[in-house]
Amino acid sequence: CAHPSAKPESAVSPYACQRRTTLDNHNKIFTDALEVLAENLELCGNQGPSLAFRRAASMLKSLPAALRRLEETQHLPCLGEHSRAIIEEISECGSSSRVEEILNDERYRTMKFSQGNSSHIFFRQCKSLVCHSISYSSALVAGFLFYEDISKPVSRTEASALKIIVEEAVICVNPSATVSITGGFRRGKEFGHDVDFIIKTPEAGQEDVILPAVIKRFKSQNILLYSDLQESTFDLRKLPTHCFEAMDHFSKCFLIIKLKREQETDARAGKDWRAVRVDLVAPPLERFTYALLGWTGSTLFLRDLRRFARLERGKLLDNHALYDKATNTFLPAKTEEDIFAHLGLEYIEPWQRNA
Ligand code: ATP
Ligand code: MN
Ligand code: MN
Repeated sequence: CAHPSAKPESAVSPYACQRRTTLDNHNKIFTDALEVLAENLELCGNQGPSLAFRRAASMLKSLPAALRRLEETQHLPCLGEHSRAIIEEISECGSSSRVEEILNDERYRTMKFSQGNSSHIFFRQCKSLVCHSISYSSALVAGFLFYEDISKPVSRTEASALKIIVEEAVICVNPSATVSITGGFRRGKEFGHDVDFIIKTPEAGQEDVILPAVIKRFKSQNILLYSDLQESTFDLRKLPTHCFEAMDHFSKCFLIIKLKREQETDARAGKDWRAVRVDLVAPPLERFTYALLGWTGSTLFLRDLRRFARLERGKLLDNHALYDKATNTFLPAKTEEDIFAHLGLEYIEPWQRNA
């Protein structure tokens, strides 16, 4: 029975979109372990079980303090038998034998190397360079240098420097367009694996022409190392999709940009720049807010927001729109607050979406 003076503990929601998850993680010892288990399962192709560990880790990240007693977990959502057992083992022994085993496993290390995000980009990068370059050897040498660079995290300072470059190019193409940083940096992260930007164009149709023009400008400035432009397949009448993994239909591009360094920190003589992964998305104005919400993430926050909309509110949400199945209407949104309000949710700030 509860201690008379104990405050009634406000229940933790099973939905990430009803939790405030800042970068201040009080349960890192548990969440790191659970994320290793999740990653290992992902590398083996077991997406379902992997998501269970990700959800458990995400829930723990939202707690205002470190777990002290195991009984505390009894009242917490998102914890399955496996996650509980791992938490128990770590509380008692300081580490989990299964996690240690994975970390020392040759297969995990190799898989992580060959399927990790940056190496994936590296292989795509090499393929593209070899196809387009006149000199195979210099393309491969360049590819190797990019691999080193893009495996390194991008700092907030580097993200700000890139914002100036992207803004300059965008405004040069269309003076009425604006650029905002999105993704992890909008959520307040100090480092990222890339830098994500969303472009707002006030005139209809501009979103389709702006990215090719920006890419052309980067090329002429000699700072474009790689580009993969995906033209818009957006259709205003299309209903939001159930499938979370589906890419959105906006005009977007995945780039590798040459960023000048402030000082020459690189040992190799003459290399005064580093390669950085940059994503740009240009949605049509009337769907800008949905695109901004979707690209701000985190991935798990958005996954739960969409699940909540569908299961608890009978509405379909994706990066393009929010659709009310009861009235068969699209719900317009000027601000992100509007979207949360449509869903009957308390507003969660970008820096509280680090689920
Ligand atoms: P990091 O700091 O490691 O880059 P991040 O949260 O910024 O972390 P990203 O992979 O850059 O992660 O993605 C940012 C957000 O944009 C995520 O919510 C993701 O779901 C969304 N996103 C990324 N690429 C696409 C895409 N092609 N289509 C739709 N949404 C995307
Ligand atoms: Mn990112
Ligand atoms: Mn990205």
